[in-house]
This record gives sequence, C-alpha cells and structure tokens, in this order.
Amino acid sequence: MNIFKLNNTTFRILQYHIMEHPENNEEYKGLTVNHGVSSQPIVNPYRRTRARKRSLTAAEYVEGIRKGDVSVLGQAVTLVESTADAHQAIAQEVIEKCLPYSGNSKRIGITGVPGAGKSTSIDVFGLHVIGKGGKLAVLAIDPSSERTRGSILGDKTRMEKLSQQKEAFIRPSPSAGSLGGVARKTRETIVLCEAAGYDNIFVETVGVGQSETAVHSMVDFFLLIQLAGTGDELQGIKRGIMEMADGIVINKCDGDNIERAKLAAAQFSNALHLFPPTPSKWRPEVLTYSGYFDLGIDKVWDMIDRYFEYVKRTGYFERKRNEQEKYWMIETINEQLLGQFYHNPEIKSLLEQKELRVLNNEQSSFTAARDVLDHYYGTLRK
Ligand code: GDP
Repeated sequence: MNIFKLNNTTFRILQYHIMEHPENNEEYKGLTVNHGVSSQPIVNPYRRTRARKRSLTAAEYVEGIRKGDVSVLGQAVTLVESTADAHQAIAQEVIEKCLPYSGNSKRIGITGVPGAGKSTSIDVFGLHVIGKGGKLAVLAIDPSSERTRGSILGDKTRMEKLSQQKEAFIRPSPSAGSLGGVARKTRETIVLCEAAGYDNIFVETVGVGQSETAVHSMVDFFLLIQLAGTGDELQGIKRGIMEMADGIVINKCDGDNIERAKLAAAQFSNALHLFPPTPSKWRPEVLTYSGYFDLGIDKVWDMIDRYFEYVKRTGYFERKRNEQEKYWMIETINEQLLGQFYHNPEIKSLLEQKELRVLNNEQSSFTAARDVLDHYYGTLRK
C-alpha cells in the first residue's frame, strides 16, 4: 500500500489512481468538490420538447378553412405555393374540396405604378369594406418578386391599419416560378379564401407589365389607380391597361393637387370616350379621391357596387367567370406541358446542342425545333 504525508497527516493511497485528488481519499477531511463532467450537455435536458407538428390531412385543412381558421388557411396557401410534389398533391385535393364553397365574393383587381398609392388606398378601401360588415383578403401578383426573391406587394407592413383587423387576411405575392405559375397560385388562393368566408378579394399588382393581364383574368372588376400632375398622364400607363380598366381613380386629390387631379380626371374621361366599348358594355368611370386623407372613398365604392349590380343584372358577371374558368384550365395545361418539356433532362441537353448548331448556321431553327420535338414525342412513346 502506498503511504504519503501531507501536513503531518499520513494518507493511505487506496486502489485509486495516483493522479486522483486527495479529497477523493476516504480519509480526507477537507472541502470537497464534485467531480466535473467531461462536457456540458448541449441541449437543456429539462427543456420540454414540443412534439413535431403533425401535418394535416386534406379534410382537416378544409375543415379549418371552412371554420375561418386563419392559421390553417395560411398553411394551406403555403402548400399551394410550394413546388414540392407531395405538397401540390394535397393542395390540389384541398382546392377541389373548397371549390363548392367558393365563388361568393367580389374579386377586385387593383393596379397602379409604384408610388401611385396602392397600399395607402388598399388600407382605406379595406377598412371601408370591413366597416360595411365584409371580410377581405388581399393577395398580390408581383412580377419583380421573382427577381428579388422578396415580394413588394401585399406586404402587411404596407397596410398598417388593415393588418390589425381580424376580418382581413393579407398575403404577399407567391415568389417562385414564372408569371403564369405565380398567377395560377394566386387564383387558387382566391378559392381557399372564398371558402374561408372572405367575401371581398383584392388582387394587387404593379401597373407596368404583363401581370395586369393575369390579374384581369381572375377578377370581376379592374381598378386602375392613377396620379395627376406628372405631365404625361396618358403616356405613363400602357393603353392596354387603360382598356382593361372598369374604373380609373385619380389618387392624391388633396391640398394643392386638387385642381390637377380634376384636370387629369377630365383628360382620362375624354380619352376613354375614344376607346371601343368594353365587352360588358359598362362605361368605365373616372373619379378622384385621396387615399391618404380618406376622402372620396365612398364614391369609389359606390361605383364598384354599381358595377356589380349592373353585371349581375346583364348576366355578364356569370359569363365572365365562366370564361375565366376555361382560360385557367387552358393556362394550366399550357404551363404543365411547357414545364414537362423544358425540365426533361434529355430535352435540356438536346436543346443546348441544337442551339449551338443553329448559331453556327449548321441547321435552320425550324428543322432544329422539329428534331427536338420529334425526340420529345419519342420519349413519350417509350
Ligand atoms: P404604392 O407604391 O402604389 O403602394 O404607393 P404607396 O401607398 O406606398 O404611396 C406612395 C407615397 O404616396 C407614400 O409616401 C404615401 O404616403 C403617398 N400617398 C399615398 N396616397 C396619398 C394621397 O392620397 N395623398 C397624398 N398627398 N399622398 C399620398
């Protein structure tokens, strides 16, 4: 047995390792400390772990949506926006089950160049609609979101008052994919929102390009927000967009801008007379208002109400919705066909080869296209 002395105390070294602390010796009477541990646990063992959320079934989504559960609605919209096949499968099932409950809303498209006052206006238009007992979903189609990976439109922070209302559901633009894909997702989201009881749907877009046509093809009323005093009132916006409008409203008719706004309204009115009649035979109206100072909003809404009365009376409302249904079926087919074609790995590499041949003048564009298509049809037969 090993013996050693410390301050006149003799210690026996038991079977412990020689490197062991003296305090671990059973004859040691001084202060002791606990054994250390080799490493701290990374996760707090006392933390209550939350069970991972089970994903809902299609029937549960539909039930939640029908009850107006905003969180379930939001999750369902996320599924609609997802590109994962499994998500798409369940999303399509949810949409189908919601279809019988959809259609009972006023779908209103709102467009205008950046700075025209869309978000300020939607904030007050939305409060007006809610004030009259309605529920409102604000959706958006934002072509720039594809590039920037972040949507500008439909952002809650832009509609401060509206976003605090429990009767409002605000959703930014879906950001992935082509304009056609983004538009389809927004259209499918309309179905879910209607099934959840939103009887007013705003679809917002920036008035600068193709996205207006997409919005126009999913709404009943198309509202164009314009500005006065820019000197080029009629050039600033594409003629095609003016032709689509069921109402043109000149915003910022306040302060020393009132006269200019009224002048712009007169100019727009005159310009509209030169346009061919709209398919509904409704004469688009031009009004002035101020979104920021909440002036003239009732007039704008009276116009929209009158439009709905008119088109329901003439049957145009139904006709247009039926046309839109057909349009979206064809659009979906087009989108899927194109997607299958361009994402096919064989076609991708063949296209690259053919592009080179065409650029080097070794083959004409037409025969190259024919070869690629023939190859694609061949892969389908396999
Ligand atoms: P958006 O880009 O079309 O959504 O436009 P915003 O709603 O963000 O408005 C752009 C700017 O115009 C903001 O600084 C608003 O405060 C201002 N604005 C919006 N509506 C009015 C209005 O009715 N009158 C005045 N004077 N300014 C407004």
